[in-house]
Order: sequence, then C-alpha cells, then structure tokens
Amino acid sequence: MLNQPLNRSLFDQVMVPNYAPTRIIPVRGRGSQVWDQDGREYLDFAGGIAVTGVGHCHPKLVSTLKRQGDSIWHLSNFMTNEPALRLARKLTAATFAERVFFANSGSEANEAAFKLARLYNHERYSDTKHEIIAFDQSFHGRTLFTVSVGGQPKYRQGFGPTPTGITHLPYNDITALETAVSERTCAIVMEPLQGEGGVISADPAFVVRARELCNQYHALLVMDEVQTGMGRLGSLYGYQQLGVTPDILTTAKALGNGFPIAAMLTTAEIASAMAVGTHGSTFGGNPLACSIAETVFDIINDAQVLAGVRYKHQLIREKLAAINAKYNFCSEIRGDGLLIGCALNLPYQGFAHHFMHAAQDQQLLVLIAGPDVVRMTPSLLITESEINIGLERFEAAVAQVIQS
Ligand SMILES: *Cc1c(COP(=O)(O)O)cnc(C)c1O
Repeated sequence: MLNQPLNRSLFDQVMVPNYAPTRIIPVRGRGSQVWDQDGREYLDFAGGIAVTGVGHCHPKLVSTLKRQGDSIWHLSNFMTNEPALRLARKLTAATFAERVFFANSGSEANEAAFKLARLYNHERYSDTKHEIIAFDQSFHGRTLFTVSVGGQPKYRQGFGPTPTGITHLPYNDITALETAVSERTCAIVMEPLQGEGGVISADPAFVVRARELCNQYHALLVMDEVQTGMGRLGSLYGYQQLGVTPDILTTAKALGNGFPIAAMLTTAEIASAMAVGTHGSTFGGNPLACSIAETVFDIINDAQVLAGVRYKHQLIREKLAAINAKYNFCSEIRGDGLLIGCALNLPYQGFAHHFMHAAQDQQLLVLIAGPDVVRMTPSLLITESEINIGLERFEAAVAQVIQS
C-alpha cells in the first residue's frame, strides 16, 4: 500500500468511510482557482464550504503564516498571547460583544455557546430554566450536543442517548415560536440564514420576534454565524443586517480562511458565568491561528470588500436567472451575499449532486445544500471575470445534466 499512487481509490483503503469525496485531488490554489494533480484548472465556487473567504493562498495570509510560524505557534491557555489579544480586541470593537472565547471549529464554538447558555441560566435563575429552542433543518455541528440542537435528525441517529431539553420548531414560524417559549426556555438558537439546511434566509420579522420573546422570558438569543459570518452576507456578521442583537454569537469557517479557528462572542455579563475552570480548550486561541484570523479580519472588515459582496450577489443572481430562463432547472434562486442556492425543480430534486459532479467535469467547483439545492459560496474577492467564466461553466454543467 505504501507504493500505491495517491488517488481517490487509496482513500477507500485508508480513510474512515464517512465522506464520499469526488474524484479529483487539488494540489494548488491561488485566489479563486485551484489545480488538480494533472494540472487541470478549476474555478472555485465552493470555497472549501464557505471557508476560504479571501481565496487560496492570499499573499497577506501567506506572509502572516510565515512570520508567525517563525515566532511562536502555541502556548496553551496557561498563558495568553499577543495575537489572541489583538484579535479579541478587533472582534469586540466590530460587534455587540465584549468578551471572546476561542475554539478550533464551528462545533466547538457552538458547544461552548450552548454550555454557556445553560450555565448562565443555571447560575442566574434555576436548573429548570434549561430548555433550548432550535429549528428544523438547522445545522450546528457534529459533536453530540451540537447534533442534538441541530434540526437534522439523521445526524444524531444511532448516537443516543443524546442530550435532552431541546425543542425543534419550524424555521420562520412566529406562531410556533410564541407557543413554545416559556419561563423554562434558556436559549433560542438560530442561523441568520440556514446554510446546510438548504440556503434559507430568516424572515426579519421572525428574528425580531425571537429577540422580543428572549427579552420577555429572560432567554438568550444565540446566533450561529459559523457560515454566515466574516462578510459572507455582505456585512461582517449577518445579524447586523437584521436589526437585532444576539446575546451569544459563534463564528468559525471563514475566520481562519482554512486555518482552524473559531470564536464565541458574548457580553461581559453573560461571560461572567464562565468562571475559571468551567470550560476550556488546549489549542483554542493559539498565536498561530489568531495571527492568521487577525489578517483575515483586516482584509474582510472593509467597506469596499463588503459592498463588493452585495454587488457580486446581484451579478450571480442575474446570471443564474438567465441560465434558468433557458433550462428551467430550478424553482428559486435564493440566499444572500455570496451564499447562494438554486432550489431544484421537481424532476431534479434529489439530484443536486449530479449538478455538482457535472460542474466539476466543466472545471467548476460548487456545493450542494441537501439533495435538492445547489449551493455556491465563492471567495468574497472573486473577480467579475471569474464570475462570468464560472457561470458559463455552470451553464454547460446544467445543459449536461438536463441532456443526460
Ligand atoms: C459548518 C457549520 C458548523 C460546524 O462547523 P465545524 O467547523 O464543521 O465544526 C456549525 N454551524 C454552522 C451554521 C455551520 O455552517
């Protein structure tokens, strides 16, 4: 096996079979382009699942990686470090938050958020105030607590017994929410736009009502911005466009542009429940990850970059609508910023992965969001000409699927 070529079939012999990767193996990336082992070029409209927000190998990130890699990588939280302090200062200055906890993945940031919501309510009110309200199709990660709060039962099947005290309601259903919230509610957990669940935007009135109910019942509003954060929707965080302020926010994916880092943001009052020893992480907030995230933050937290995201949204939407006028493959083009979904028409429902594979044949990387939605999450810095070429390739992929 040590002599076997590094190809897709080796994957099945050495990896746990929980993924089904496509055939190609990219070896190099620059901006919105990647090249596979054969030197074939692809335009990247997948962005490593909304992670490479400033594209591959951004020169400023490469330079930060090299500089910090030459200084110090890791200390543990037995000591603090300069990059972590700088990043936390920037995150708190740019958001509602006053306190930051660093972790390594979206799941871990959410795990911290849910634990903090329970802990705060436990200390401030009572043990019975522990119920978490979450929404159908939501995705919050893969740890046992986060699959339990997530609204996709298939992700917790077989892993029971799972944590209890969690209720799932239909997303955007104000009446269901009003009926379910009570004095026992500890937190309402939502994505401002459901990414994995099918690219479904929150109805602003729904989010406003959730905030009001949280105030009324002294519950915490937790916004999972792991996918929507770091400029993806055209503002640094999605909540900033919704006119509501969360109590806890989680951010990950694009925060490190591929270097693992996540953060949970909250107020000083709520953070005070997480006293010394109540929670922690070995890697979380290490200098290497934080220095990279600080550079990512500096690039993205820029009015021009964020305006560009909103402009490119319109451009992609118009081009997808033109493709759809020709091929009638989707019933709705939806999403916000550079998180865009094509909800497939009935004959193609269940076959989103066919579009993904056809796009790859046409040298374009796209994602799916469930079996019925094709999802695009390109770099926020993608150029207009890359968008044009990418959507020409997408049109060819659509034609390929429809003719097959
Ligand atoms: C990806 C994602 C997560 C999980 O993040 P990991 O880094 O894979 O643990 C959680 N919430 C949302 C909204 C996500 O999109």
